[in-house]
Amino acid sequence: MTYFADLTPYTYLERHDEDGHGASDEPLLNVGWLDASHPFPTGAPPDGLMPALTELATVRVRQTRGYHYCEICVRDMGEDAMEAIRQGVIVRESAEFEVRGDDVAYAAPQLLLHYMAAHRYLPPAEFCAAALLSTT
Ligand SMILES: [Zn+2]
Repeated sequence: MTYFADLTPYTYLERHDEDGHGASDEPLLNVGWLDASHPFPTGAPPDGLMPALTELATVRVRQTRGYHYCEICVRDMGEDAMEAIRQGVIVRESAEFEVRGDDVAYAAPQLLLHYMAAHRYLPPAEFCAAALLSTT
């Protein structure tokens, strides 16, 4: 998957899709576009964040072509990764979701939930706050 640093402007795919999601005028920022070669912040998520993100992620925007595999899992498996991919045991996703903040929106890969659960990725505080606010 393509790496983007957290909170950089989103440039990966066209913002407008058939469902009209992502067509808002707010700036759209990247969150959670990790790969195996860039370090990322880790830590315990704030209370309620995982359920909030799980709910937000059910609205899938911008289906991507093909699947993105978790590169961190692939790296950690080393030589076994290709076989694991063939057997379908490496986590993969093919869509994004959005979190709406205050005059800003965040574009995150569906893999973000896996990054947090399996690799202890901690997204930026403003993203966490926006996710918690938009589901209460
Ligand atoms: Zn992984």
